[in-house]
Amino acid sequence: MTCPFFKFIWELMTKHIFITGGVVSSLGKGITAASIAMLLKRRGYRVRMQKLDPYLNVDPGTMSPYQHGEVYVTDDGAETDLDLGHYERFSEIPCSKASNYTTGRIYSSVISREREGGYLGGTVQVIPHITNEIKAAIHSLDSEDTDIVITEIGGTAGDIESLPFLEAIRQFRHELGDENTLFIHLTLVPYIKAAGEMKTKPSQQSVGILREIGIIPDILICRCERPMLEEHRSKLSLFCNVPKELVIEEQDVANTIYEVPIELAKQDLDKHVLNILSLPEKSLEIEDWKTMVDTVINPRNGKVEIAVVGKYISLKDAYKSIYEALIHGGIANSVKVLIRMVEAEDLERFPEKDILAGADGILVPGGFGDRGVAGKIKAIEYARTKNIPFLGICLGMQCAVIEFARNVCGFKEADSTEFNRKTNYPVIDLMEEQKMVTAKGGTMRLGSYPCVIGEGTKSRIAYDKTSIGERHRHRYEFNSSYKYEFEKNGLVIAGTSPDGRLVEIVELKNHPWFVACQFHPEFKSTPLKAHPLFMNFIKAARSLQK
Ligand code: GLN
Repeated sequence: MTCPFFKFIWELMTKHIFITGGVVSSLGKGITAASIAMLLKRRGYRVRMQKLDPYLNVDPGTMSPYQHGEVYVTDDGAETDLDLGHYERFSEIPCSKASNYTTGRIYSSVISREREGGYLGGTVQVIPHITNEIKAAIHSLDSEDTDIVITEIGGTAGDIESLPFLEAIRQFRHELGDENTLFIHLTLVPYIKAAGEMKTKPSQQSVGILREIGIIPDILICRCERPMLEEHRSKLSLFCNVPKELVIEEQDVANTIYEVPIELAKQDLDKHVLNILSLPEKSLEIEDWKTMVDTVINPRNGKVEIAVVGKYISLKDAYKSIYEALIHGGIANSVKVLIRMVEAEDLERFPEKDILAGADGILVPGGFGDRGVAGKIKAIEYARTKNIPFLGICLGMQCAVIEFARNVCGFKEADSTEFNRKTNYPVIDLMEEQKMVTAKGGTMRLGSYPCVIGEGTKSRIAYDKTSIGERHRHRYEFNSSYKYEFEKNGLVIAGTSPDGRLVEIVELKNHPWFVACQFHPEFKSTPLKAHPLFMNFIKAARSLQK
């Protein structure tokens, strides 16, 4: 029995939950971590979230979407893992630079400290210097205002790269004690068709690997395609050393990932977590979430089909936040959103009408480099001339400006200097502050910047306010020396930086709904609070449906 005074101190401390994964990657650790955060927040706890990634890039900002999926940008300008998008969408808890550390980032700070003489006389080693740096990264989220920090460890138990992270969290428990730390292991319980059976052996083995490192999971979450039977639970409990009620099933959900927290709550996962951490249960309020899930499953107002014209279409994680934000726009309008993924380069080979016909809205997302740009421009021309609702994001906005310059203003060779440095009409040009930048990592215009919206615009209607803050990730911008020509021809400058220098949103005067923004609205959309631009884009797509 803990004495009341110590119990009080325990309850004041920031407690730590660690989530590891076993057997295979892509089990949905991010969604599970996000669901747990959401449930704990809705039980009245102040939660922060973090992901530790075992690769050597300092952050994912320099990685191709083919390697890594989308790069998620936080308000404070960190280029991070896409799981942070799940964290923010599920829990509405803001992430920051402290929410994503990679092996590269940990090593780079240890190495710079070594060069500055910070370890003078000492031999710098993985243990204790790297593990101490990892522990400091985890503690960086502790504060008086934080009850619980959830840290997801990327990779799979058994990976060589993950070892320093696992050693660090083992030490964490040793230092903070059982009541302040909790290990959750997410594992796969596969169904083997030929044998007609579910197999627990891979989970036993991955728990075995953790045990060798000195980590004994408190809770096992089992990803499975089919319901687990009593015998599987008993086996996993016995061999993995976890009480039976702490063997939690996380079956594939039928309709939407937003069902996951509801399913976990049905098994009292959140209650178990609080009990292990010696925290009072408090009540859980998720009715609004359940109603939202209901809307996804049974929308009242039919469906719309949105064509997303991108260049990483084959990879479903490359535009993760965009796809989610479209679904949120659908929830807000009680409409099912079907997404037609269009490979931009296909538009360079086949007629637009064959590829885009029947789409109720067209979205061109962000990107880098000129591959697929010609196709994106064709899609934009199609949306403009056929009065199809259009949302352009970042590169999508820049392409909309190029299309307008070429086809409406008559500047046939208009281009972005990203694609043609020598163009006579550089309607999109490198930002002034980028001209001296040569290093690639973390050097773009990143994070949240204010924007002022003009009266009488579609954006003003959508946001219902004049001052907004949105997240950016770009080097090029609208070239303001063409403002007059553009406005004269019917382009509306709907949003600018407060000093009026940077153009942040453009619209078309003679079009039912054509909005293109330099920032990334998708990063701020959540299922319960759809982003205003996505909500209004879907609304326009539905009401103008042919
Ligand atoms: N490549 C463009 C730029 O750097 C657009 C970037 C983006 O779409 N995120 O400005």
